[in-house]
Amino acid sequence: MTIAAPRPRGVIHHWAEILPLTPQTPRISLGEGDTPLVRSSHIEALCGLDELWFKLELCNPTGSFKDRGMVVAVAKALEDGAKAIMCASTGNTSASAAAYAAHTGIECFVLVPGGKVAAGKLAQAIAFGAQIIEVDGNFDDALNAARALTEKHPVALVNSVNPNRIAGQKTAAFEICEALGDAPDILAIPVGNAGNITAYWKGFGECSERGLASLHPRMCGFQAAGAAPIVLGKPVESPQTVATAIRIGNPASWKSAIAARDESNGLIEAVTDDEILEAYRLLASKEGIFVEPASAASVAGLIKLAREGRATGGRAAAILTGNGLKDPDTATTQYEPKVTKAAGTVEGVERALGW
Ligand SMILES: *Cc1c(COP(=O)(O)O)cnc(C)c1O
Repeated sequence: MTIAAPRPRGVIHHWAEILPLTPQTPRISLGEGDTPLVRSSHIEALCGLDELWFKLELCNPTGSFKDRGMVVAVAKALEDGAKAIMCASTGNTSASAAAYAAHTGIECFVLVPGGKVAAGKLAQAIAFGAQIIEVDGNFDDALNAARALTEKHPVALVNSVNPNRIAGQKTAAFEICEALGDAPDILAIPVGNAGNITAYWKGFGECSERGLASLHPRMCGFQAAGAAPIVLGKPVESPQTVATAIRIGNPASWKSAIAARDESNGLIEAVTDDEILEAYRLLASKEGIFVEPASAASVAGLIKLAREGRATGGRAAAILTGNGLKDPDTATTQYEPKVTKAAGTVEGVERALGW
């Protein structure tokens, strides 16, 4: 047996052909992309589907899909001579921006809604050395401020309103088509600021142009009921949900999310926090996949459609956007720990287990 030289990894290396790169764009990477597509063992039947596949975007380097677009946004910012980047964030964008800033030696400013960011995400931004600004307001206020600040000051904005983020994120649609040999019939995805549903729809369109897919998936986006502006048709003043990553009242990519829905004959609907948490528990206990609550919205939506008699069968892919470790506080309230105390001996453990 011989051991091959390590192959270069990462979104920029692998997908250069479909990204807005020039010879001057630095080829940076933290090993993002190329995430597993795993077949469901249990939830598939609950959803009345022939096949359900989970795209494990939680396997990206900082634990969310944000890395896929961030690597391109930061590379392009570096190409343009930027010395600093800024984003507004419910947590994962800041973790990702801070990681790529640390990796490339630039400064990172993150604007987060005070007290509303999951502990793991804040820990990442702190560890990577970002300058954290806790805004007295919600995500939408933070994004408005970040947009205005980056117009005024020499700092690059790396939110998903930056088209390089969308370009990087569309690569996940290519990976799904490659893995399945075609596009799925249904794509289920959580919707917050709506950049990701926009990116996937763009990606699937390009896949069919390039002959990698013979069909378009129906784009099925799910918002949290307390933060469902697209479903309600109007901005939500103070969005509320346990799924903090999609706690957004006025999505920046609202129009393109609606276009993805309508052009694909899809839907954007709401799931309650109870439905999200049920899917969150099922993913862990029946599939062995620990996600953060926002990610469970995609699966909650598929379960809901089946319960309402609206399951269509066929093949679906659900995007699992972020890692459960990011939000330990929700985990400790949602799982019943099976813990027994025992003396540190064989007999002690046997006694405790009743063996
Ligand atoms: C950012 C994020 C979302 C929402 O994606 P949008 O592009 O804002 O719609 C969903 N889940 C997780 C874990 C996220 O980090």
